[in-house]
Amino acid sequence: MSTSAAATTHDRLHRLADAARVAGIDAVLVAPGPDLAYLVGHSVPSHERLTLLAVPAAEPGDAVMVLPALERGGWEGSTAEIAGIRFVTWLDGEDPYAALLGELGGAEPGTAAVDDHLPFLHAFRLQASRPALRLQPAGELIAELRMRKEPFEIDELASVGAAIDRVHRRIGEWLRAGRTENEVAADIAAALVEEGHRTADFVIVASGPNGASPHHEASDRVILAGDPVVVDIGGPNPAGYNSDSTRTYLVAGGEPDPELARVHELVRTAQRAAVDAVRPGATAESIDRAAREVIERAGYGEYFITRTGHGIGLEVHEHPYIVAGNTRPLEPGMAFSIEPGVYLPGRFGVRIEDIVVVGDNGAKLMNTSPTELVVV
Ligand code: ZN
Ligand code: ZN
Ligand code: ZN
Repeated sequence: MSTSAAATTHDRLHRLADAARVAGIDAVLVAPGPDLAYLVGHSVPSHERLTLLAVPAAEPGDAVMVLPALERGGWEGSTAEIAGIRFVTWLDGEDPYAALLGELGGAEPGTAAVDDHLPFLHAFRLQASRPALRLQPAGELIAELRMRKEPFEIDELASVGAAIDRVHRRIGEWLRAGRTENEVAADIAAALVEEGHRTADFVIVASGPNGASPHHEASDRVILAGDPVVVDIGGPNPAGYNSDSTRTYLVAGGEPDPELARVHELVRTAQRAAVDAVRPGATAESIDRAAREVIERAGYGEYFITRTGHGIGLEVHEHPYIVAGNTRPLEPGMAFSIEPGVYLPGRFGVRIEDIVVVGDNGAKLMNTSPTELVVV
C-alpha cells in the first residue's frame, strides 16, 4: 500500500461523487467485490454480515466503511485507511442498517445508488429500515469510471497479456493425442500460475465436437489425432487484472475435418477485421458488426452464436460489451476482448481471442501469440 494508491482512491472517490451529483444521487453504496477493489484497492467476501462503503455525493472526503468489528483487523494499513476513509464497526446483535443510515445523515429521505454486487438481502433490509429512501442501481455510475483504463491499468493488462501468451506458446508441452482434456487443463492451470497469474480462473480445453460448445470447460474426453482443440484460458495477476486469450490448435496426425482449415482462416480474418475497426468514436456494436460481416458473407453467420467481446479489467467480463445494440462510442483507454468464433454442432469449433485497448489511432493488442492454425 502506498501514498500513490491512496491518491488513486481519493481521485476515484471524487470522480464517483461528481457523477453521482450529476445524476441527482445523494450517496453511493459500494458492496464488496470488484467495485470496492477498484475504489479502495482491497475487497473482502460479501456475506450475511453487512460490509459497505458509503460515498456521500456532496463530500466524498466523508466516505465511510461500515463493517463487522471482527473484520476491522483485515483493513489495518490498507489503502482505504491511508486515504482517510472512516471505519464504523458494528457488533453481532447490533443493527448495521441503522448505523449506516445514521452515517448517511439524519432522517432526511434521499436517493442512494446501490452497487450491483450488493446481495438483495442487504438492500431489502436497508430499505425496510428507511422506507422513504429511494434506492437505484449504481452499476452504470461505477462502470463509467472503470471502463476507461488509466495508464497503470493498461500496463497491468499488457503484462498479464504477456503472461497468458507465454502459456499459449508452451501449449505443445501438454496438448497431444491420448491425453484427456482434464489432464491437459490441469497442466495449463499450473502453467498460468508459473507464468505470473495469481490463480487460474478458467481453463477451457474443448476438443473435437466439444469445441462446438463455447462454454464447454474440460472433460474426461480423450483427445484424438486430427482434433481441433479450442483453448481459452485466463486469470488475474497479483494486482487483480485479468488475462483472457483463446487459440484453436490442431492435434498432429489423423484426418482433420476437411472444413477446418477454411473455417479457421475465416475466423482469423473476422477477428482481424474487428481489431482493425477499433478506433475512438467507433461504436461498440460496429466492432461486432465488422467481425460478423466477414463470417456472414462466407455463409457461416448462423454458427457465430456469441457476441464479439466483453470489457476486461478487474473482472473478466465487464463493460463495454461488444454486442449488437451497444451504440456506445469507444474511447481511448477502453479495454475489451475480440473473440469471434464458428461453432459447428457435432463437429468442432474455432475461436480466436485477443484483448485490445483503444488507443488514439486504433487498437493496441495485449496479446501477440500467433493466430495461425498451430499444429501440436
Ligand atoms: Zn477530498
Ligand atoms: Zn476467453
Ligand atoms: Zn473472453
